[in-house]
Order: sequence, then C-alpha cells, then structure tokens
Amino acid sequence: MAVIGILAVQGDFDAHSKAVGAVGERWKLVKKPSDLDGVSGLILPGGESTTFLKHLEEEGLAEPIRQFARTKPVFGTCAGAILLAETVENPAQPSLGLMQITVRRNAYGRQLSSSIRTLTAEPELSEIGPEAGTPMEAVLIRAPVITAAGAQVRTLARLQGDPALVRQGFLLAGTFHPELTTDTRVHRYFCQIAAQVGKSSSVSPAEHK
Ligand code: GLN
Repeated sequence: MAVIGILAVQGDFDAHSKAVGAVGERWKLVKKPSDLDGVSGLILPGGESTTFLKHLEEEGLAEPIRQFARTKPVFGTCAGAILLAETVENPAQPSLGLMQITVRRNAYGRQLSSSIRTLTAEPELSEIGPEAGTPMEAVLIRAPVITAAGAQVRTLARLQGDPALVRQGFLLAGTFHPELTTDTRVHRYFCQIAAQVGKSSSVSPAEHK
C-alpha cells in the first residue's frame, strides 16, 4: 500500500493528511530528508512559498525533493505548485523548478483573493470516484495562476479558462486547495498515480502519462 508523504515544514499539511486519510491511504509527515524514506508520493501543501523556500533551505530538503521527483510522484497545491514551477513571477523567486509551468503569484488580487469557485474538470479527472460528472469546487486563497505550460504539461481542470490542475508525467500541480473541500477526487487521483508508479518503478518518468 502506498504511503503518501506530506511536507510539514509550514502550511496546511494537517488538512492534507485528513484528505489522504479520507481516501483510505496511509500518510506520514515529512520534516527532514530521511522522512522521505519509504514514501511513494509527496504532497507539497499550500502556505507561503517564500517561507517554504526558507525552511527547505534550512532543513536541506530542496535537493532530496528534486531527487525524489525523478522517480516518484509529487503533488503541489497553491504554494506547493509555486515551488514546482520552473518560472515564478510577481515577484520572481527561486523554486524547485520541476514542472514546465510559469505561475504568477497572488494573481487574484490581495483582499478579494480568497473565494470558492467552480472548476471545469477534464474527463480524465471526472471519471474518478462517485462524484464523477459533478462540478468541482475550488477554494482559492491568495492563489497563483498558471500563465504558461510546456508541451509535456496536460491540463486536467480549468478555472475561468486558466489551467488550475495540471499534470506532467507523474507530477501534479493545482492552484486551489482540494484538501479544504469534501470532494476527494484530486487526492484519490494523486494516490492512484502513486500506487501505479510504485508498481512500475522501472518505468521512466517521461513514460508516465
Ligand atoms: N500566496 C501564496 C504564495 O505566493 C500562496 C497561497 C496559498 O498557498 N494558499 O506563496
């Protein structure tokens, strides 16, 4: 059975652990590099990406996470998606640079920035689970927007036309907070990817679609 690691240096890791538990998967908190041992997929939660960067540096976690992502799935939500992006704007800042996406931070303005909106899910996502076909609610909290995506990136859900959930191989990034609603589709989807990759660990990342 897959064990999902949840980066727990900052942000809403607690809500993610509940969401992973709700889809019946095991999880463990990741606070230092050795916590990645035995983990089959890693969630980078929302929070504040600049603070995450500081903690990743302090704990020596950035490079181990980069290495982890070469062979195992990583799912970044909101600040986590910012960490995964190759290019970060507003303002520019460093990142793990793992996905071919450009994100603009705090794209929905300062105060009017937290809201619940409805996502348009692509069929690949809506086929999962009992909520299939129903609209998916997206909680946005000072959310980034994905402004560009490379050829290897597929869009799984959109928000007002912009990509809101994207996948590149076995890496997943969402601009919203699926851990804050009762809709478990996105976590179930990620856990499924982790289970598949775990079974076929000889397959290279590029071959995972
Ligand atoms: N605005 C935050 C950042 O730029 C992200 C907000 C979130 O994760 N909810 O890092």
